[in-house]
Amino acid sequence: MTARAGRIALRWGGATDPGRVRSTNQDNYLARDDVGIWAVADGMGGHRGGEIASQIACDQLGEAFTDRSLDGLIDAVEAANAAVFEEGTGDPELTGMGTTVVALAVVDEDDGEQLAIANVGDSRVYRFSLSELDQLTDDHSLVADMVREGSLSPEEAAIHPQRNIVTRVLGVNRRVPVDALVVEPHHGDRFVLCSDGLFNEVPSSAMSAVLQRVADPTDAAGELVQLALDGGGRDNITVVVVDVVDDGGPRRPPPAGAASARAGGTARHPVVGGEPDVEGDGSAVGTAPPPDGAQRSEPAGDGGATFGPERRPRRITWRVVAFVVLLLALLGGAVATIQWYGRSTYFVGFEGDRVTIYRGRPGGLLWIDPEMVESSDLRRDRVPADVEDDIAAGKEQSTLSGARAYVQRVAERADELSPTTAGEGNGTTTTTAQQATTTTRP
Ligand code: MN
Repeated sequence: MTARAGRIALRWGGATDPGRVRSTNQDNYLARDDVGIWAVADGMGGHRGGEIASQIACDQLGEAFTDRSLDGLIDAVEAANAAVFEEGTGDPELTGMGTTVVALAVVDEDDGEQLAIANVGDSRVYRFSLSELDQLTDDHSLVADMVREGSLSPEEAAIHPQRNIVTRVLGVNRRVPVDALVVEPHHGDRFVLCSDGLFNEVPSSAMSAVLQRVADPTDAAGELVQLALDGGGRDNITVVVVDVVDDGGPRRPPPAGAASARAGGTARHPVVGGEPDVEGDGSAVGTAPPPDGAQRSEPAGDGGATFGPERRPRRITWRVVAFVVLLLALLGGAVATIQWYGRSTYFVGFEGDRVTIYRGRPGGLLWIDPEMVESSDLRRDRVPADVEDDIAAGKEQSTLSGARAYVQRVAERADELSPTTAGEGNGTTTTTAQQATTTTRP
């Protein structure tokens, strides 16, 4: 698949797989080489919410990306957020659904066509350039925040039990802050957009090896997905590889740090400058932008502002106020998102000697304790041994009806193993409304 989007030329390939554990695929990807935009979205939410959220986000991004600029890309992501949010508020089955999104788009800048990247959530964009793999996006996740604070090492984060908790997500709030940056394309660069199902299963060294060895982007995406399956495939996996096959002719050599955009990131390995572009004539002098010249970051929730190199200097007081407002908005969004995540599913556990349905996450999540929803007539001593451990650990179900069906199936198996007199241990549930309120954790 080849796209000639104006002066630069890109080839791309994509692959997605539900993985070895999940029965549905809530990931989606977008590839519109006619408009020059590619995206990966990782949906979440009960019932079919996750699939629908990621699908709407991809469709809407493709439709809304009409202004080929960094602001145009941010606007398109905001439009996708609004579309998922609207759909979610209109349908009780879909309420609370959300999705991550990463996007790569061809944009027109003063000095020619460039690539813009946008991110909300914990999907990622990597660049493989000169045999080195750089993560270009910052994860909006609890563990990434802890790594940035210094309270967790990247190695600890990679295996942390709560590493899948996102702090920013599309479709849960009316507005969402969008991270965005521009990178200069160079012949031979490979951009990898992926969901966490890839990088949670595959170390970056193995990703690099595939990108080095497999030239065709479709084959490379397929092999990366296969590696994640081989690694366990515990989540849905989606990979889109976009190759720069023509960067639009002679360009200046990459100035130090400019293309890799950001300083201070934890998982970043900026390309060291001075390596001439293979097609560069090297004659450009004095064109190097400031070290962060290629980066622009969040609009502060008002949709319009970008903080870019072209902004005029402003007074300190204004900047401090803006910074505090931005920080509060981010914190508020993170709290709301964690709150939503902590309550968005159900699980089956034990309350005393009774099989019981809870809303929340097993063991709770930060300040959010699980909430008891229904207790059943099924006693622990009748639960088949092979599922007792699952229930003791908290058997997660995305919906209440799913949790009830699970209890029903366990009760039916218990009856098969040791029939009881009618009316006892049949898995019927009673609501806690008739019982003393309890906040006991399982
Ligand atoms: Mn995922």
